[in-house]
Amino acid sequence: MNTPVVTRFAPSPSGALHLGNIRTALFNWLYARQQGGRFLVRIEDTDQARSDEASVAGVLRDLAWLGLAWDAGPDREDGQGPYRQSARAALYAKAFARLESQGDAYPCYCTTLELEVARRTELAAGRAPRYLGTCAALNADERAAKLAAGREASLRFRMPAGAVLAFEDLVRGPQRFLADELGDFVIRRSDGSSSFLFSNAVDDAAMGVTHVFRGEDHVANTPRQRAIMSALGVAPTQYGHLPLLVGSAGAPLSKREGSASLQALVQEGFFPEAILNQLARLGHHYADEAWLDVPALVAGFELSALGRAPARFDRVQLLHWQKEAVHRAEPATLERWAKGAVPPQQEAAFVRAVRANLVLPADAAEWGPIVFGELPCASDEMRTLLVSAGGGFFEAALAAISLDEGHVSYSSLVAQLKASTGRTGAALFKPLRASLTHRLDGPEMAALLSVMPAGLVRDRFAAARSLAASSL
Ligand code: GLU
Ligand code: ZN
Repeated sequence: MNTPVVTRFAPSPSGALHLGNIRTALFNWLYARQQGGRFLVRIEDTDQARSDEASVAGVLRDLAWLGLAWDAGPDREDGQGPYRQSARAALYAKAFARLESQGDAYPCYCTTLELEVARRTELAAGRAPRYLGTCAALNADERAAKLAAGREASLRFRMPAGAVLAFEDLVRGPQRFLADELGDFVIRRSDGSSSFLFSNAVDDAAMGVTHVFRGEDHVANTPRQRAIMSALGVAPTQYGHLPLLVGSAGAPLSKREGSASLQALVQEGFFPEAILNQLARLGHHYADEAWLDVPALVAGFELSALGRAPARFDRVQLLHWQKEAVHRAEPATLERWAKGAVPPQQEAAFVRAVRANLVLPADAAEWGPIVFGELPCASDEMRTLLVSAGGGFFEAALAAISLDEGHVSYSSLVAQLKASTGRTGAALFKPLRASLTHRLDGPEMAALLSVMPAGLVRDRFAAARSLAASSL
């Protein structure tokens, strides 16, 4: 029987989740769900100074909002946690002791200054800096002397000398590193805290994590982490490193392009499914380029469809998916956007009329006054158009609706205007639309008039008539 798939999302709780983190969480979630496996959330808060409780709550809130449910996590312990690294020190202590007793780790007494000098020397000689093994072979007397001299010890992992560390990356394919080039590295800092590399690897192993997707900035950590797992006698986790998200110009994500937090998009009114449709396609190819609901995103997620090409985040694309989501949204959801933007009780009629023009709540705020309140000032283009239509056109429009109460009947308005002015096509429709909305795009006129109060329509025609007349 195959081992069941276990994936995890392991954020460091120091601030809000950004789209890059969310994409990582999503890929781990999609793979777990597609495989019928488990998805864990682990809070990597060993750096106490940079971690805070509000960020932990924010992570869980954001994942829940997106619908990325987790099977175990800091708020849902299942006996295989705890799912916060700050609560796992005893476990790390056991692993340190084991590695040290096996000879796979040793105390290092080098000071920061000594290490820095060595690093610069290597760099100056054109070599990649790495630890040169100063403390790798100290005997008991030498160690005692260092301690007596007041030196503090960190603990270093001893890389297997001469080893070739080869593994298969789930995204990037075969990888190969030389242990000697990586050098021995710190797994416990001199203050006793464990390093990211160490706690992350120990936890992936202890929690039975089988697969991990994470950013490609972690590629070079993998051979070190696999070496730790192997020294601890556990099956190594498989890692896949995703290309980092870039903006549409290929540069790292700017604030405008979405390095902003997820919360910024939530505030703007984006729907979770819109964000998921875009993020799932950044680094993963879905044969179907149309809208996919969440079960379809899950079903279509495949390791073979993961790609290394730069993953471009594009707000225009996001807006496209948002439009698709709006198209599928329940009327009640969109009616909430209209609250406050239209008179009470008019939300449903308003949404029916302008639905095709709503992408975000801001659009409801823009169209609400056009349909029920004040028009924005006319642009020069609109003025020219209204003036050239002539006062007589709007006079005729007013006459055509003089008996309409409640709402204007679009078909009868158009029929009468055609008859009285002889106009058809753009010569008829453009000034009509311009006088009513001060724009040339927007909802179907019939739908608009079915909700706009007749009195307001009259006011708008009258205003257009005076504008046209005053500039004679
Ligand atoms: N806490 C690490 C980070 O946020 C986790 C990296 C990983 O997924 O292994 O970068
Ligand atoms: Zn040392």
